[in-house]
Amino acid sequence: TIQLPRPERRRILTVANQKGGVGKTTSTVNLAAALALQGLNVLVIDLDPQGNASTALGVEHRSNVPSIYEILLGEIGIADAAVESTQSENLHCVPATIDLAGSEIELVTMVAREARLKEALGSGVLDQLDVDYVFIDCPPSLGLLTVNAMVAADEVVIPIQCEYYALEGLGQLLSNIELVQSHLNPALTISTILLTMYDGRTKLADQVTSEVRGHFGELALRTVIPRSVKISEAPGFGQTVLTYDPGSRGSMSYLDAAREIAERGSERKTA
Ligand code: ADP
Ligand code: MG
Repeated sequence: TIQLPRPERRRILTVANQKGGVGKTTSTVNLAAALALQGLNVLVIDLDPQGNASTALGVEHRSNVPSIYEILLGEIGIADAAVESTQSENLHCVPATIDLAGSEIELVTMVAREARLKEALGSGVLDQLDVDYVFIDCPPSLGLLTVNAMVAADEVVIPIQCEYYALEGLGQLLSNIELVQSHLNPALTISTILLTMYDGRTKLADQVTSEVRGHFGELALRTVIPRSVKISEAPGFGQTVLTYDPGSRGSMSYLDAAREIAERGSERKTA
Protein backbone atom coordinates (compact mmCIF):
# COMPACT_ATOMS: atom_id res chain seq x y z
CA THR A 1 0.00 0.00 0.00
CA ILE A 2 1.23 3.45 -0.86
CA GLN A 3 1.17 5.67 2.19
CA LEU A 4 3.44 8.31 0.75
CA PRO A 5 2.99 10.31 -2.43
CA ARG A 6 5.23 9.44 -5.34
CA PRO A 7 7.41 12.46 -6.08
CA GLU A 8 6.43 14.51 -9.13
CA ARG A 9 9.93 14.08 -10.39
CA ARG A 10 12.35 11.31 -9.49
CA ARG A 11 14.65 12.44 -6.68
CA ILE A 12 18.34 11.57 -6.52
CA LEU A 13 19.85 12.18 -3.08
CA THR A 14 23.49 11.94 -2.16
CA VAL A 15 24.24 11.27 1.49
CA ALA A 16 27.57 12.94 2.14
CA ASN A 17 29.90 14.03 4.91
CA GLN A 18 33.63 13.39 4.68
CA LYS A 19 33.68 12.51 8.34
CA GLY A 20 33.43 8.80 9.06
CA GLY A 21 30.98 7.40 11.57
CA VAL A 22 28.41 10.20 11.44
CA GLY A 23 25.55 8.01 10.22
CA LYS A 24 25.74 8.29 6.42
CA THR A 25 25.27 4.60 5.75
CA THR A 26 22.79 4.07 8.56
CA SER A 27 20.69 6.99 7.33
CA THR A 28 20.94 5.91 3.68
CA VAL A 29 19.64 2.39 4.25
CA ASN A 30 17.00 3.27 6.83
CA LEU A 31 15.57 6.24 4.90
CA ALA A 32 15.56 4.10 1.75
CA ALA A 33 13.81 1.24 3.54
CA ALA A 34 11.29 3.60 5.14
CA LEU A 35 10.26 4.93 1.74
CA ALA A 36 10.23 1.47 0.13
CA LEU A 37 8.13 -0.05 2.91
CA GLN A 38 5.59 2.68 2.25
CA GLY A 39 5.23 1.69 -1.36
CA LEU A 40 7.81 3.76 -3.19
CA ASN A 41 10.44 2.32 -5.52
CA VAL A 42 13.88 3.01 -4.15
CA LEU A 43 17.38 2.33 -5.42
CA VAL A 44 20.41 2.53 -3.14
CA ILE A 45 23.81 2.96 -4.73
CA ASP A 46 26.64 1.92 -2.46
CA LEU A 47 29.61 4.12 -3.30
CA ASP A 48 31.80 3.18 -0.34
CA PRO A 49 34.37 0.40 -0.90
CA GLN A 50 33.56 -0.86 2.60
CA GLY A 51 30.18 -1.97 1.27
CA ASN A 52 28.37 -1.28 4.54
CA ALA A 53 25.14 -0.23 2.84
CA SER A 54 25.16 -3.46 0.83
CA THR A 55 25.62 -5.45 4.04
CA ALA A 56 22.78 -3.67 5.80
CA LEU A 57 20.47 -4.41 2.87
CA GLY A 58 21.43 -8.08 2.79
CA VAL A 59 23.10 -7.74 -0.60
CA GLU A 60 26.20 -9.73 -1.38
CA HIS A 61 29.32 -7.65 -2.04
CA ARG A 62 32.28 -9.98 -2.17
CA SER A 63 34.85 -9.15 -4.83
CA ASN A 64 33.62 -10.19 -8.31
CA VAL A 65 29.89 -9.66 -7.85
CA PRO A 66 28.69 -7.10 -10.43
CA SER A 67 29.01 -3.79 -8.62
CA ILE A 68 29.26 -0.04 -8.85
CA TYR A 69 32.95 -0.47 -9.71
CA GLU A 70 32.27 -2.08 -13.10
CA ILE A 71 29.54 0.48 -13.67
CA LEU A 72 31.94 3.40 -13.14
CA LEU A 73 34.39 1.75 -15.53
CA GLY A 74 31.59 1.58 -18.11
CA GLU A 75 31.72 -2.20 -18.38
CA ILE A 76 28.13 -2.86 -17.25
CA GLY A 77 24.97 -0.87 -16.58
CA ILE A 78 22.98 -0.14 -13.42
CA ALA A 79 20.42 -2.84 -14.23
CA ASP A 80 23.18 -5.46 -14.46
CA ALA A 81 24.21 -4.89 -10.85
CA ALA A 82 21.04 -3.84 -9.02
CA VAL A 83 19.86 -6.56 -6.64
CA GLU A 84 16.64 -6.81 -4.63
CA SER A 85 17.27 -6.17 -0.94
CA THR A 86 16.07 -8.33 1.93
CA GLN A 87 14.03 -5.37 3.17
CA SER A 88 11.40 -4.87 0.50
CA GLU A 89 10.77 -5.92 -3.06
CA ASN A 90 10.63 -2.18 -3.82
CA LEU A 91 14.14 -1.63 -2.55
CA HIS A 92 17.10 -2.48 -4.75
CA CYS A 93 20.80 -1.95 -4.16
CA VAL A 94 23.81 -1.65 -6.40
CA PRO A 95 26.54 -3.09 -4.19
CA ALA A 96 30.08 -1.84 -3.68
CA THR A 97 32.95 -4.28 -3.44
CA ILE A 98 36.49 -3.78 -2.22
CA ASP A 99 37.47 -3.38 -5.91
CA LEU A 100 36.13 0.14 -5.60
CA ALA A 101 38.98 1.06 -3.26
CA GLY A 102 41.36 1.60 -6.16
CA SER A 103 38.93 3.57 -8.25
CA GLU A 104 39.70 6.99 -6.77
CA ILE A 105 43.02 6.64 -8.56
CA GLU A 106 41.80 4.74 -11.61
CA LEU A 107 39.16 7.36 -12.31
CA VAL A 108 41.69 10.18 -12.47
CA THR A 109 42.79 9.40 -16.01
CA MET A 110 39.32 8.63 -17.36
CA VAL A 111 37.29 10.74 -19.73
CA ALA A 112 34.58 12.76 -17.94
CA ARG A 113 35.83 11.32 -14.69
CA GLU A 114 33.46 13.38 -12.54
CA ALA A 115 30.36 12.34 -14.48
CA ARG A 116 30.71 8.57 -14.71
CA LEU A 117 27.89 7.88 -12.26
CA LYS A 118 25.64 10.54 -13.78
CA GLU A 119 26.12 8.92 -17.16
CA ALA A 120 25.33 5.49 -15.80
CA LEU A 121 22.10 6.78 -14.22
CA GLY A 122 21.04 8.41 -17.49
CA SER A 123 20.05 6.46 -20.58
CA GLY A 124 16.55 5.74 -19.28
CA VAL A 125 17.54 2.96 -16.89
CA LEU A 126 15.81 4.61 -13.92
CA ASP A 127 12.62 4.88 -15.99
CA GLN A 128 12.83 1.19 -16.85
CA LEU A 129 13.24 0.34 -13.18
CA ASP A 130 10.46 2.84 -12.34
CA VAL A 131 12.56 4.34 -9.54
CA ASP A 132 11.07 7.12 -7.35
CA TYR A 133 14.08 7.72 -5.13
CA VAL A 134 17.79 7.08 -5.54
CA PHE A 135 20.03 7.29 -2.47
CA ILE A 136 23.79 7.34 -2.93
CA ASP A 137 25.89 6.38 0.08
CA CYS A 138 29.25 8.18 -0.05
CA PRO A 139 32.61 7.13 1.37
CA PRO A 140 34.14 9.25 4.15
CA SER A 141 36.18 11.48 1.86
CA LEU A 142 35.74 14.29 -0.63
CA GLY A 143 37.50 12.46 -3.45
CA LEU A 144 36.31 11.57 -6.93
CA LEU A 145 33.72 9.06 -5.73
CA THR A 146 31.94 11.70 -3.67
CA VAL A 147 32.27 14.19 -6.52
CA ASN A 148 30.65 11.62 -8.84
CA ALA A 149 27.82 11.28 -6.33
CA MET A 150 27.32 15.06 -6.19
CA VAL A 151 27.37 15.41 -9.96
CA ALA A 152 24.79 12.63 -10.35
CA ALA A 153 22.41 13.98 -7.70
CA ASP A 154 19.87 16.79 -7.36
CA GLU A 155 20.09 16.94 -3.59
CA VAL A 156 22.64 16.49 -0.85
CA VAL A 157 21.62 15.05 2.51
CA ILE A 158 24.15 15.82 5.25
CA PRO A 159 23.97 13.68 8.38
CA ILE A 160 25.47 15.42 11.39
CA GLN A 161 26.29 13.50 14.53
CA CYS A 162 25.23 15.24 17.76
CA GLU A 163 28.79 15.17 19.05
CA TYR A 164 31.46 17.57 20.17
CA TYR A 165 33.30 17.87 16.85
CA ALA A 166 30.10 17.73 14.79
CA LEU A 167 30.60 21.01 12.97
CA GLU A 168 34.29 20.64 12.39
CA GLY A 169 35.02 19.96 8.74
CA LEU A 170 31.55 21.04 7.69
CA GLY A 171 32.97 24.20 6.09
CA GLN A 172 35.14 22.06 3.86
CA LEU A 173 32.14 19.96 2.83
CA LEU A 174 30.08 23.06 2.05
CA SER A 175 32.82 24.64 -0.04
CA ASN A 176 33.22 21.39 -1.98
CA ILE A 177 29.50 21.39 -2.67
CA GLU A 178 29.81 25.00 -3.89
CA LEU A 179 32.65 23.99 -6.20
CA VAL A 180 30.53 21.23 -7.68
CA GLN A 181 27.61 23.65 -8.05
CA SER A 182 29.67 26.24 -9.88
CA HIS A 183 31.63 23.92 -12.15
CA LEU A 184 29.85 20.61 -12.59
CA ASN A 185 26.25 20.53 -11.39
CA PRO A 186 24.47 23.89 -11.01
CA ALA A 187 21.21 22.10 -10.12
CA LEU A 188 22.62 20.60 -6.94
CA THR A 189 21.06 21.78 -3.67
CA ILE A 190 21.59 20.95 -0.05
CA SER A 191 18.07 19.84 0.73
CA THR A 192 18.38 18.11 4.06
CA ILE A 193 20.38 18.19 7.26
CA LEU A 194 19.74 15.18 9.48
CA LEU A 195 20.86 15.14 13.11
CA THR A 196 21.88 11.64 14.15
CA MET A 197 22.84 9.74 17.29
CA TYR A 198 21.08 12.21 19.53
CA ASP A 199 21.47 11.40 23.20
CA GLY A 200 18.89 13.34 25.18
CA ARG A 201 20.75 12.80 28.43
CA THR A 202 23.60 15.06 27.41
CA LYS A 203 23.59 18.85 27.29
CA LEU A 204 26.02 18.64 24.43
CA ALA A 205 23.45 17.02 22.13
CA ASP A 206 21.08 19.95 22.63
CA GLN A 207 23.89 22.42 22.13
CA VAL A 208 24.85 20.83 18.82
CA THR A 209 21.22 20.62 17.77
CA SER A 210 20.56 24.30 18.35
CA GLU A 211 23.83 25.30 16.73
CA VAL A 212 22.95 23.29 13.61
CA ARG A 213 19.41 24.68 13.54
CA GLY A 214 20.81 28.18 13.96
CA HIS A 215 23.08 27.69 11.00
CA PHE A 216 20.90 25.68 8.64
CA GLY A 217 17.40 26.73 9.73
CA GLU A 218 14.67 24.88 7.86
CA LEU A 219 17.09 22.62 6.05
CA ALA A 220 17.43 20.61 9.24
CA LEU A 221 14.67 18.04 9.59
CA ARG A 222 12.45 18.42 12.66
CA THR A 223 13.00 14.73 13.28
CA VAL A 224 16.20 13.88 15.08
CA ILE A 225 17.56 10.32 15.05
CA PRO A 226 18.19 9.06 18.59
CA ARG A 227 21.19 7.03 19.61
CA SER A 228 19.76 3.51 19.68
CA VAL A 229 21.25 0.08 20.16
CA LYS A 230 18.65 -1.40 17.80
CA ILE A 231 19.83 0.86 14.99
CA SER A 232 23.42 -0.30 15.41
CA GLU A 233 22.50 -3.99 15.77
CA ALA A 234 20.36 -4.27 12.65
CA PRO A 235 23.15 -4.39 10.00
CA GLY A 236 24.64 -7.43 11.73
CA PHE A 237 21.47 -9.26 10.66
CA GLY A 238 21.51 -7.89 7.12
CA GLN A 239 18.57 -5.71 8.03
CA THR A 240 17.52 -2.15 8.57
CA VAL A 241 16.02 -1.19 11.92
CA LEU A 242 12.65 -0.97 10.17
CA THR A 243 12.42 -4.74 9.83
CA TYR A 244 14.77 -5.65 12.69
CA ASP A 245 12.63 -3.90 15.30
CA PRO A 246 9.72 -2.10 13.64
CA GLY A 247 8.26 -0.66 16.83
CA SER A 248 11.51 0.73 18.20
CA ARG A 249 12.25 4.40 18.64
CA GLY A 250 14.99 4.16 16.06
CA SER A 251 12.63 2.69 13.51
CA MET A 252 9.96 5.30 14.19
CA SER A 253 12.49 8.11 13.90
CA TYR A 254 13.64 6.99 10.45
CA LEU A 255 10.00 6.61 9.34
CA ASP A 256 9.34 10.18 10.51
CA ALA A 257 12.47 11.51 8.83
CA ALA A 258 11.57 9.78 5.56
CA ARG A 259 8.04 11.16 5.71
CA GLU A 260 9.40 14.68 6.21
CA ILE A 261 11.71 14.27 3.25
CA ALA A 262 8.89 12.94 1.08
CA GLU A 263 6.40 15.59 2.14
CA ARG A 264 8.56 18.62 1.72
CA GLY A 265 9.71 17.59 -1.73
CA SER A 266 12.84 18.70 -3.47
CA GLU A 267 12.10 22.40 -3.87
CA ARG A 268 14.23 23.65 -0.97
CA LYS A 269 17.27 25.65 -1.83
CA THR A 270 20.72 25.72 -0.38
CA ALA A 271 21.08 27.80 2.77
P1 ADP B 1 29.17 6.52 8.28
O1 ADP B 1 28.51 5.82 7.13
O2 ADP B 1 28.96 8.00 8.25
O3 ADP B 1 30.60 6.17 8.43
P2 ADP B 1 27.58 4.75 9.93
O4 ADP B 1 26.19 4.93 9.45
O5 ADP B 1 28.32 3.55 9.45
O6 ADP B 1 28.43 6.06 9.63
O7 ADP B 1 27.55 4.78 11.51
C1 ADP B 1 28.74 4.63 12.28
C2 ADP B 1 28.51 3.68 13.43
O8 ADP B 1 27.52 4.22 14.30
C3 ADP B 1 27.96 2.34 13.00
O9 ADP B 1 28.51 1.35 13.83
C4 ADP B 1 26.47 2.45 13.21
O10 ADP B 1 25.86 1.20 13.47
C5 ADP B 1 26.41 3.35 14.42
N1 ADP B 1 25.20 4.17 14.41
C6 ADP B 1 24.73 4.96 13.41
N2 ADP B 1 23.60 5.60 13.76
C7 ADP B 1 23.34 5.21 15.03
C8 ADP B 1 22.30 5.51 15.97
N3 ADP B 1 21.32 6.36 15.68
N4 ADP B 1 22.35 4.92 17.19
C9 ADP B 1 23.36 4.08 17.51
N5 ADP B 1 24.35 3.74 16.67
C10 ADP B 1 24.36 4.30 15.45
MG1 MG C 1 29.39 4.60 5.67
